[in-house]
Amino acid sequence: MAEFSQEEKDNIQKQFDELLRLSPKCHKNEETLALVKKAFSVANEAHYGTRRRSGEPYILHPIAVARIVSDEIGLGSKSVISALLHDVVEDTDITLEDINNMFGPKIAQIVDGLTKIRGVLKNKEGQAENFKKIVFTLSEDVRVIIIKLADRLHNMRTLDSMPPEKQKRIAEETNTLFVPLAHRMGFYNIKMELEDLCLKYLNPTVYFDILHQLKGSEKKRIHYLNRFCIPIMMTLEQHNINYTITSRSKSISSIWAKMQKKNITFDNVYDVFAVRIILQDIPLEEEKAMCWRVYSYITDKYTPNPERLRDWISTPKDNGYEALHTTVMGPDGTWVEVQIRTQRMDEIAEQGYAAHWKYKNVDGFEQSQLEVWMKRVRSSLMNPDEDALKFLDDFKLNLYSTDLFAFTPKGEMHRFPVGATALDFAYEIHSEIGHHAIGARINKQKVVALDYKLQSGDQVEILTSESQKPQKDWVKIISTVKANNALQQAFKYEKKRNIMRGQQILSETLEEKELPQTPTVLDKLVQGYGLVDKNELYEKLGADELDKGKIVEYATNKRKSKKIQWWSFLPTISDKKEETEDDKDVKVIYHSTKYTIADCCHPIPGDQVIGFKTDTGYEIHKNNCPIAIERQQKEVAQKIKWISRQEQVFLTSIQLKGKDRIGILHEITGVITNQLNVNIRTVHTETMEKEFTAYFDMYIHDSQQLNTIMMKLQKIKGILKVERVEQRNWR
Ligand code: MN
Repeated sequence: MAEFSQEEKDNIQKQFDELLRLSPKCHKNEETLALVKKAFSVANEAHYGTRRRSGEPYILHPIAVARIVSDEIGLGSKSVISALLHDVVEDTDITLEDINNMFGPKIAQIVDGLTKIRGVLKNKEGQAENFKKIVFTLSEDVRVIIIKLADRLHNMRTLDSMPPEKQKRIAEETNTLFVPLAHRMGFYNIKMELEDLCLKYLNPTVYFDILHQLKGSEKKRIHYLNRFCIPIMMTLEQHNINYTITSRSKSISSIWAKMQKKNITFDNVYDVFAVRIILQDIPLEEEKAMCWRVYSYITDKYTPNPERLRDWISTPKDNGYEALHTTVMGPDGTWVEVQIRTQRMDEIAEQGYAAHWKYKNVDGFEQSQLEVWMKRVRSSLMNPDEDALKFLDDFKLNLYSTDLFAFTPKGEMHRFPVGATALDFAYEIHSEIGHHAIGARINKQKVVALDYKLQSGDQVEILTSESQKPQKDWVKIISTVKANNALQQAFKYEKKRNIMRGQQILSETLEEKELPQTPTVLDKLVQGYGLVDKNELYEKLGADELDKGKIVEYATNKRKSKKIQWWSFLPTISDKKEETEDDKDVKVIYHSTKYTIADCCHPIPGDQVIGFKTDTGYEIHKNNCPIAIERQQKEVAQKIKWISRQEQVFLTSIQLKGKDRIGILHEITGVITNQLNVNIRTVHTETMEKEFTAYFDMYIHDSQQLNTIMMKLQKIKGILKVERVEQRNWR
């Protein structure tokens, strides 16, 4: 291991001190500061002796990333700590567990996220696809993505020392993945810088050509700028307005884009620079009026191009950007773009949403504001407009509260409803793996039982055993259709096999004693064992659940049959005497009865239902279902009493109306999934003004459970109305 020189060590310390100086949020209190210092010393020690390709000590990279995160983006100490540690799990001996122990679960979660993204990016197959998945899995904490962005920015800034092949690959990846991400999150400066850096490595001729031309025309530009700005400045002074005026040239990549689009040379790109006027000390409620006032001062001096007026104040861009843009005709007939914004808007433009919460930062509010911000970023990631993040298009809002993602050891991603277990995962991979599953290893660490509830981002390795087979009580721990189908299939197959085996055992035993196999003998056996019918007899015999030694005894039994005490529990149609209902026409059905649930009204056990006879059983409708009512004009409907079995669930839907407030959706899903242990399939919400309407499709057992849920939801603050949806288009 190469030692560092004293000079290098001093430089490392110097860079870290500089980071601390630029990170006011790390000085919040002693404890925070100590933790940041600890993160530095842990990372410094772990990376000690390793160097980047440029030859400098590796640790300078995490320090630089932390500095971008803190100084350029404005995030707090947790992000700084995570940035300092972002490469240690992948590159050094330090484990996630160590980080968890030293810095707590939050930091560990962020570092884990960063490590996972690295893993995904390494995997060249379907990179964009993978990245998309990762973004959603890990956007649980948006800081993961922001730190990743900072990491990439620093790598792009220092890409010079990489071999050309790698430069190209990384630049391409940055162009397709990180540029749109930065745009979407409102990090304009980062986006611009990344774009320019991409151009530098992907098309160096163009890049350096434009760069030289910009440099060459700099003096001329400054001169022109003065001529343009001085009249504006004088007016603003006159009106006692506090402002700063800046100008920056357009980014190289946007100039290049314009040259290509309009098929013109550099000299003909007229608006190579924009003038930005930032108004200081403007109260929030006066911002809009002030910006327009300044607009009118400017257009008094210079003629505006009406087609190039952009009002991002009345309707901010959906990534939060606010400003007034206009293009005016300056001296010599040159078009100049002018951007007018307040200090607050400027910081939002520079730092993305990070600035939003800064403006509402009251003591103790930081955390919740951060959450609000993350939520906005998340929903903005999930509701892309046409031009941005095309690759996120297929994701919809209703995804994040109801679904989770888990990975195979090879990094393949699978989607599950919240509440899904390791066993669901096993069946998702393959039914054979499900049938033989005995447990799972999560994130290459702990081994868990099959009923382990998956967490988003988990990497799951299923442990199997040849001797394992599907268990009856597994139906209680699965929640995916796929697992249920596979299990039912297996049970059916097993049952068939047992019946055949049982028949064989029975005939062999009876033959040996020269007893006939008559219906009477079979009846005696069924009664003797206390069963329902001969099928059950065969099946249980085949499954070795009955004592074979009793066959002869029961078959020759002379006594009267005893009462079959199982009857009332047994899942079978009881169409005659057992029916105690006054109404003789009522059919009782249980879950083993062959029936189908009507698609139009989705009844659940406990509902008032009727059935129409089908080839195999009944099609069940709610008795107030309009489709069923219509059908009854031509067809006789059977009255039905529907008994629920706890292990069976039915899809049903409720509608909630309430006042839109932060966290209400979270509270609602919390009640449904945590308190009541019900699986939600989809959530769909609509917000109008301050009111929202939410639809929850969920799996429940019966109407009684549904009533409990609805009552509990009714009690949530802000909920105005809870209703079962009778008719709904089920997807
Ligand atoms: Mn890194």
